[in-house]
Amino acid sequence: MTTVLVIEDNENNMVLITKILQNAGYKVLQAEAGRKGYDLAVSGQPDFILLDIQLPDIDGREVLAMIRDTLGVRKIPVIAVTSYAMSGDRERLMAAGCNGYIEKPIDPDGIIAEIEGILNEAGISKASK
Ligand code: MN
Repeated sequence: MTTVLVIEDNENNMVLITKILQNAGYKVLQAEAGRKGYDLAVSGQPDFILLDIQLPDIDGREVLAMIRDTLGVRKIPVIAVTSYAMSGDRERLMAAGCNGYIEKPIDPDGIIAEIEGILNEAGISKASK
């Protein structure tokens, strides 16, 4: 089963995203803060990560940088999930090593297709797991 780590501090978003992913057949690991998310990436070895950028402890960009600097997790695809719509933000995230970018609010009917499109580009497909 493909495992996804969701790093998200908003409880409503976490519940919604988790339900959507589980319904689509993914196993979900949850972290509600950045440092816990990083630790869970290392210990849980998810197949990919959904990363909120605005987090209560360390910024999602810092979590991304830590993941990309850590042997054993540095190649895990990371998809940023953020309400930031600032010009240049997407480019900065991609330059920092994100594999893709999903904008909030989450579209329950479209997010799985968005995720799987990004994973396909990253060379990860559900069928291969
Ligand atoms: Mn947040």
